[in-house]
Amino acid sequence: MRLEEGVPLSKLTTIGTGGAASAFARPSTLAELEAALTWAAERHLQVETVGLGSNLLAADEGVDALVLRLTGELAAVRIEGDLLRAGGGATNAVCLHHARSGGLGGFEFACAIPGTAGGGVRMNAGAYGSDWAEIVVRARVVTAAGGGWLSTDALGLSYRHSELPEHAVVAEVEYRLTPRTPEQIKATVAELIAQRKATQPTNKRTFGSVFKNPDHELGAGRMLEACGLKGHRIGGAMISPMHANFIENAGGATTADALALIAEARRLAREQFGVELEHEVRLLGAIAIT
Ligand SMILES: Cc1cc2nc3c(=O)[nH]c(=O)nc-3n(C[C@H](O)[C@H](O)[C@H](O)COP(=O)(O)OP(=O)(O)OC[C@H]3O[C@@H](n4cnc5c(N)ncnc54)[C@H](O)[C@@H]3O)c2cc1C
Repeated sequence: MRLEEGVPLSKLTTIGTGGAASAFARPSTLAELEAALTWAAERHLQVETVGLGSNLLAADEGVDALVLRLTGELAAVRIEGDLLRAGGGATNAVCLHHARSGGLGGFEFACAIPGTAGGGVRMNAGAYGSDWAEIVVRARVVTAAGGGWLSTDALGLSYRHSELPEHAVVAEVEYRLTPRTPEQIKATVAELIAQRKATQPTNKRTFGSVFKNPDHELGAGRMLEACGLKGHRIGGAMISPMHANFIENAGGATTADALALIAEARRLAREQFGVELEHEVRLLGAIAIT
């Protein structure tokens, strides 16, 4: 496995912002992953795993860590009976393709979530009333101290949250699905994608929902829309004119621009609705949300 230096995180995140990772590697087997974790532990270097970077804001100044992207066997997918086994780096699109060809339903909800199996576990990603917690049986979790399989309960999956230890790597995920014809799956996916395109900025550079939905009659998007934030811009980052819970890279955005918009949105939601919005997006590097 080759270690790379200075890889720009802007190339690894869907919003397209972020400075360089001090070290970067693409392990393709469990042995390579373990070797990478040992290498980092020997240097007291933190390990951060990125999937498709679809829910990530990385510091403009860069990240002092070994950043990993899982490939090869660690991104492979296979079906065994009603189980779909996916490497932590397997994309949801590839998993869905295998599920459909194998006549297994239950993964359709993930058709518009542009992430990986490991990122889905970390975030307990979900849509249309379903989430990872409903289909994951267990996940193989690896750290420099060792690894093993964790059950869904042990993963502690709740709304866009898991109890996965910080810096642990999800190397493999086992999903239990249910028999469904490829035609039925295709029809459901087409319907969900059409719904998505009608309501969210699917053709822009974003990192998905900025905030979790608060315990309030208004979702985060409607609340920020009521604050008059649609189209509001700081530097190259803009609150989506289509859905106010998305931030678009409108050209030349930096992570600092996005963070300033997030702070502004939180301030307005607090002042106008008395609500403390909690961010869903994950942060990489020495940055924080105020
Ligand atoms: C257009 C768009 C639409 C979206 N729609 C939805 C939606 O409907 N529902 C939803 O829940 N999300 C949605 N998202 C957000 C995002 O796609 C999900 O959170 C997704 O699960 C993130 O997966 P990822 O692999 O890209 O993770 P990343 O964004 O790369 O990382 C997210 C977190 O997971 C960690 N991580 C990634 N891989 C691993 C691994 N193998 N092991 C351990 N930790 C890991 C990272 O360190 C980070 O903390 C959307 C994003 C976009 C851009």
